[in-house]
Amino acid sequence: MTDQELQKWVEAISLASFGRPFRHRASFNRRLRATGGRYFTGSHNIEISWLQWEKHGADEVEKIIKHELCHYHLHLTNRGYRHRDADFKYWLARVGGSRYCKPVADSNRTVMPYRYKLTCQSCGMHYLRKRKVDVSRYVCGKCRGKLKLESVDTP
Ligand SMILES: [Zn+2]
Ligand SMILES: [Zn+2]
Repeated sequence: MTDQELQKWVEAISLASFGRPFRHRASFNRRLRATGGRYFTGSHNIEISWLQWEKHGADEVEKIIKHELCHYHLHLTNRGYRHRDADFKYWLARVGGSRYCKPVADSNRTVMPYRYKLTCQSCGMHYLRKRKVDVSRYVCGKCRGKLKLESVDTP
């Protein structure tokens, strides 16, 4: 699913569920984990968590889109657009939006990735380390040569 397809999808849900057009931008956010989606009161744009799409698929993302569209339409029509507002609760129940978002388990963080690489200056052997180490205190396990510390780029 591309951002363009998401945009069309949000526009279609907006018309079908709210009877009003969505005239701003909808896009995926690949790093959004804390919530399923976000509505920006300044730009009126909507962001949807890519991880929700990957893990929970279309049914769940449709509910998240409906949730964000509740914020969107209520905000633009000067009604209670916050979670605690009666208008918001009413519309969320009416269109069947997600009440809260399903958390996405972060496998990258439970298993800490290797962030550092030690390279032996003599034999070229590599060692991966999760934490920074003081290279002056260690030597290569293979040839006892001097080690060089580099950070590894992880996504
Ligand atoms: Zn919300
Ligand atoms: Zn070595």
